[in-house]
Amino acid sequence: MTKPTPAASRAFRFDLPAQETTPAGSISVAPPGVAPAPAPIVSMLPNGIPPLAPPDDTLLKIQQDIGDCRRCRLCEQRSKIVFGSGNESAALVFVGEGPGADEDAQGLPFVGRAGQLLTQMIDGTASKEGIPVRRTDVYICNVVKCRPPENRTPQPDEMEICGQFLFRQLLAIRPKAICALGSTAAKALLSTKDGVTRLRGHWHKWRDIPVMVTYHPSYLLRPYNQNAKREAWEDLKKVMHFVYD
Ligand code: SF4
Repeated sequence: MTKPTPAASRAFRFDLPAQETTPAGSISVAPPGVAPAPAPIVSMLPNGIPPLAPPDDTLLKIQQDIGDCRRCRLCEQRSKIVFGSGNESAALVFVGEGPGADEDAQGLPFVGRAGQLLTQMIDGTASKEGIPVRRTDVYICNVVKCRPPENRTPQPDEMEICGQFLFRQLLAIRPKAICALGSTAAKALLSTKDGVTRLRGHWHKWRDIPVMVTYHPSYLLRPYNQNAKREAWEDLKKVMHFVYD
């Protein structure tokens, strides 16, 4: 288990006793074995985002709260908000970075080439390991819901603002485990500056939910990353057995 990095600033402070927000909008984790206290309800945040997390939160409520969101600059060039898709009671949630061109056009996460690879990874690993799970059985979403221009990495303030919706999604679904795809998702969930190579293959925690970090499928599409591909399959095997055995 990787030791959580202490939060560095309190630009946005949610009153969560065992956890704090960071500039990247992530939440540090209570020490292993210490159950985090439930989040008290606090009033509306700046820029109109409801607190983390309202009672009886649901994915539908979160989507309604997002509405035609203009809370950060990523609204300017998006076509569609990409909220997330899949099984709303999933035991496993995959979190990516943000929508690309195909996702922006369709309003759905991971539908381009990287998405096809993710489907192969999920379906292929499950079938090889004898686990009766398909992509439709998991839930898939991103740290930011609107496509960053030229597919650039989301900026810390964008991750901070939109990350609150991600956190609400995760709290509403309460999966048995989360798989963070790539360093942006890892940063948002784990308050860490470590890269994927260092983080992958081990269990971490977001609040009390185990998190496995692995490579983003778009990184695996590059031909020179065959070794990373093998490692990603290993990571996924670990996640699948943990969640579904
Ligand atoms: S990225 Fe998130 S916070 Fe920014 S405009 Fe889109 S939905 Fe709103």
